[in-house]
Amino acid sequence: MDKIIKEFLNEVNKRNQNEPEFMQAVTEVAETVIPYIVKNDFYYGQNILMRMVEPERVVSFRVAWIDDQEEIQVNRGYRIEMNSAIGPYKGGLRFHPSVNLSVLKFLAFEQIFKNSLTTLPMGGGKGGSDFNPKGRTDTEVMRFCQSFMTELFRHIGPNRDIPAGDIGVGSREIGYMFGQYKRLKNEFTGVLTGKGISWGGSLIRPEATGYGVVYFVQKMMEYNETGLKGKKVVISGSGNVAQYAAEKAIQLGSKVLTLSDSSGYIYDAEGIDEEKLAHVMQLKNIKRARISAYIEKYPKAKFVSEKSPWEVACEVALPCATQNELNEKDAALLISNGCVCVGEGANMPSTPEAIHQFTNHKILYAPGKASNAGGVAVSGLEMAQNSLRYNWSREEVDAKLQSIMADIHKSCLDFGKEDGYVNYVKGANIAGFVKVADAMLAQGVV
Ligand code: NDP
Repeated sequence: MDKIIKEFLNEVNKRNQNEPEFMQAVTEVAETVIPYIVKNDFYYGQNILMRMVEPERVVSFRVAWIDDQEEIQVNRGYRIEMNSAIGPYKGGLRFHPSVNLSVLKFLAFEQIFKNSLTTLPMGGGKGGSDFNPKGRTDTEVMRFCQSFMTELFRHIGPNRDIPAGDIGVGSREIGYMFGQYKRLKNEFTGVLTGKGISWGGSLIRPEATGYGVVYFVQKMMEYNETGLKGKKVVISGSGNVAQYAAEKAIQLGSKVLTLSDSSGYIYDAEGIDEEKLAHVMQLKNIKRARISAYIEKYPKAKFVSEKSPWEVACEVALPCATQNELNEKDAALLISNGCVCVGEGANMPSTPEAIHQFTNHKILYAPGKASNAGGVAVSGLEMAQNSLRYNWSREEVDAKLQSIMADIHKSCLDFGKEDGYVNYVKGANIAGFVKVADAMLAQGVV
């Protein structure tokens, strides 16, 4: 088996040189899905995984715009249309200086499996730019978004490709891009998700990824006959996913100890409660400040510069910032300090070595493609509401989100049980694969 996997990965690597993040994501899937393919005559011999790792289409384009000093800036924009076997391409846009083809291809590849797990009809895609919104004024961000959409609009559409937010793309950026799309097409359509409530958005969409992570963790804990109440929770990041993961964890009675950003983490031993979290949201979303500003209002907390929060003892860890933010040493430290459950809010935040630590020690570990699927799931519900021209209530959307997260958990159990342990990586990869592979095989060699 190892030989077949190795040969497959060598072949993929040959075509995708210098794309380490993409190869990391493909390797994780290949290691769990190839043994399943080999045992199933229906999939064996169809070259199906090789077809899945090849994007259906990659678009790369120039984004020129003028900053407040009237200097001309040039960025690069991308859209990866990875797989449309089960629905139109769906996946976020990321604006961050680290964005490149490898990062977006890994995200688009993961998105295929994640979207399949939600049970909604969405294919996989991802896009973005190396533009850094940090430190830019609102008018600069608007000019950038307008220039970005002036090219992207010809590749997307409500039945073709429906982008959403991701790192660096929140409600402000979605608004500017939606406005430009509407102007160019002269159409009011559900071409983006994460829209404002008064112009086609869904209730619970901002909360969905973070809430979904915690609903998934709750399911894992309950399956192991424990719960979240009273548990110490360590969270990284302080953006959209981290904020709402913290909110739901607090509502369910956990004690949230940390939040972070790229400059370091804050540790509040008394716990971050709802009032403190509201202050964080004000700091991050309105003032666009650094997380270190937290200690100005709450001086009993401490700010630890240039470090991530995995050194803080906890029962539950929720990495909600970015890829490869939790390495082997961090994983070992978490486990030795009593961590029993890791639920990924970010995409691929744990390195392969960290994942081996979690699975070797048989602690509960949920890969992002399962545990953070709540965001795209509610994006799917936003698309459904746009088609119906109707809005569901907060309670209705939240109930659907909870039911989708419970279904994803069940799919992971169906394919991931091994000798009294649930391997959620294997479960999520195979469950996600089966639906897409079946559709691809039915649709012929295209
Ligand atoms: P935001 O831009 O709202 O927040 C990102 C957070 O992560 C910020 O606190 C940011 O800190 C931190 N961060 C980003 N890059 C780094 C880095 N290189 N090192 C340390 N910290 C970093 O993004 P989201 O909350 O939307 O996304 C977070 C993660 O969740 C990403 O992996 C994303 O792909 C994933 N995700 C998001 C979904 C969504 O619905 N938004 C859906 C599913 C997954 P700083 O401000 O200092 O950069």
